[in-house]
Amino acid sequence: MMALMPKFPMLLMNSARHPSQPTQALGIGSRQMYILVVDDKPQNLRLLADLLSAEGYSVRKSLNGSMAITAAQASPPDLILLDIMMPEMDGYEVCRQLKAAAATATIPVIFLSALDEAFDKVRAFQVGAADYVTKPFQVEEVLVRIKNQLALRAAQQQIQQLNADLEARVQERTHQLEQAMLDLRQEAAERQLVQAQLLDLALHDPLTGLPNRAYLLDRLAQSLDDLAATADHSFALLFLDCDRFKLINDSLGYSLGDALLQAIAERLQQLAQPQDTLVRLGGDEFALLLAVCEEPSQPMQVARQIQQLLSAPFCLRQREVFVSVSIGIVFGERSYEQPEHLLRDADTAMHRAKARQRGSYHIFDPALYLATLHALQLETDLRHALQRRELELHYQPIVDLASGNLFGVEALVRWSHPTRGFIPPDRFIPVAEETGLIIELGAWVLETACQQAYDWQRAGLVAADFTLGVNISVHQFAHPQFLQQIDQVLAETGFSSTCLKLEMTESAIMDNTQQAAATMQALRDRQIRLSIDDFGTGYSSLSYLHLFPVDTLKIDRTFIQHLSEAEKTLNLVAAILGMAKALGIVAIAEGIETAEQAQLLRQLDCNLGQGYWFARPLTATAFAEHCCQSAEESAAG
Ligand code: C2E
Ligand code: MG
Ligand code: MG
Repeated sequence: MMALMPKFPMLLMNSARHPSQPTQALGIGSRQMYILVVDDKPQNLRLLADLLSAEGYSVRKSLNGSMAITAAQASPPDLILLDIMMPEMDGYEVCRQLKAAAATATIPVIFLSALDEAFDKVRAFQVGAADYVTKPFQVEEVLVRIKNQLALRAAQQQIQQLNADLEARVQERTHQLEQAMLDLRQEAAERQLVQAQLLDLALHDPLTGLPNRAYLLDRLAQSLDDLAATADHSFALLFLDCDRFKLINDSLGYSLGDALLQAIAERLQQLAQPQDTLVRLGGDEFALLLAVCEEPSQPMQVARQIQQLLSAPFCLRQREVFVSVSIGIVFGERSYEQPEHLLRDADTAMHRAKARQRGSYHIFDPALYLATLHALQLETDLRHALQRRELELHYQPIVDLASGNLFGVEALVRWSHPTRGFIPPDRFIPVAEETGLIIELGAWVLETACQQAYDWQRAGLVAADFTLGVNISVHQFAHPQFLQQIDQVLAETGFSSTCLKLEMTESAIMDNTQQAAATMQALRDRQIRLSIDDFGTGYSSLSYLHLFPVDTLKIDRTFIQHLSEAEKTLNLVAAILGMAKALGIVAIAEGIETAEQAQLLRQLDCNLGQGYWFARPLTATAFAEHCCQSAEESAAG
């Protein structure tokens, strides 16, 4: 029970502040603070209510605990002033229940009690009191404590609000970050997809969909690694090139050519095992990497299977197209350091296969590679040789077999390499032909020989009808400026066209018969004579001879060499001579090395011959001496 203290009015009177100045009652945000006063004494209630109202607070009053709890829950006050000693429910219980309910738990409760034992205060704080004021109280103290509690609560609420704001911001930020992460992941996935597509493009051939050269090189590098790591591992690479594909493209058009390549790719795919790699290298070239070779003969078997598979005709737009492939095979060896070298060697082998017989296969042989290297070096050296005048002409006499008189000479080119010594024409002429250098070389030979022969004629060393034989390569013969070149040489040297005889192999004539016939006729018009060299080694078709304006045929030395041994050869040479005579063609026997051979040829009625038995090819000086000597001998004889 709360008793009114006699001190109270006095203290109230002593208060420095006038009740009409309600400055403290307004809380944060200028809201009027609402205080619930609980006391079982109506006069106490009234007194406190007046006091607080005068301070600007909004006040509600409760005469017992249960009313107070109901009022607090219905409209939670900002603060509760609570008496302890009350009938039915004391202040402790009221406070306990208020603190237990969520809606009222945070409302600060200040106990106002006459109980002044420490025990009572401890108990009050234990049930959740915010403060404790002992009656009789001083007004100032009550007001200050109220004010403090309200400020404390406002601060707590503010902190709570700030925390809530912070929490909301953190949540929002987290959400933003999660979204950003999702976006990033999606972007990364898209980028990966684009990268994969680019990689796919970079490693695949768009026409056939097969992997390409870059992909193959990668697989080859892997195979070389496997080879280095595993002793019994073995693999092989097949390099495929379609034969005469250009012809297909030129005659049937590029779109059909493309369709054919696609069809070839499809057929090849049927053959490739899952562990193998089939690629299109470009153009009409494909490669098949046999990643595991169980048997050394496997690549050859596969090559045969490929050739068999492609031999069936391709039906493209109501057309039947036939294809053959030349295949180069290389075996994986530990000595290979780079995948490109495997590809290079397979390519070299493929070219060898093609050169030997289209539609065949060839296994790479390191010696072949060395030969290629050699040929390359030879090419470079030959270019220098032409510029540095390292070439020289030798002249081999051609004689009348019956009289032994000089009929003419054959000019033969010689190359003295500064470091490698003498290089026979059989070695460097094919290189010159392959590289096109033959045009320049041939022009030099023709000019030098004509000039030399003219000088000898002028010097009276040789007869006026002396014949100069000059070898002409297929490539020279087919060159558009060939005739012009000859005219120019004859004009510049003054050498008579009637003394010139051009030696050509059968293939030069047969490779392009129409053009050959026209060129030969043009030469004939200039009274230049034509000779078929190495007769019997090429097409050996006697029937074509009459179609061309040929003057001479030179029987190849292989026939002459076996003359004495085999009757069969003798009959063959006799047949050639008989046929030549019938056609009005002069025959020259090449490579006569013995007196017996010369004698046999005379018996066969062969008029002219050439060979070591009479004279080896001689330098210009040696030939001049030879002529002088012969002249002296015949004068003496
Ligand atoms: P070829 O035109 O049939 O020349 C005859 C070859 O037989 C020459 O070889 C000659 O030295 C050789 N020979 C001559 N008599 C005998 C003999 O009794 N026994 C043996 N074993 N050989 C004999 P060479 O000079 O080595 O020329 C080889 C080939 O190179 C020539 O064959 C010719 O096809 C070509 N050649 C030489 N010089 C030239 C040239 O200036 N231009 C062109 N395009 N080819 C040339
Ligand atoms: Mg010749
Ligand atoms: Mg010959």
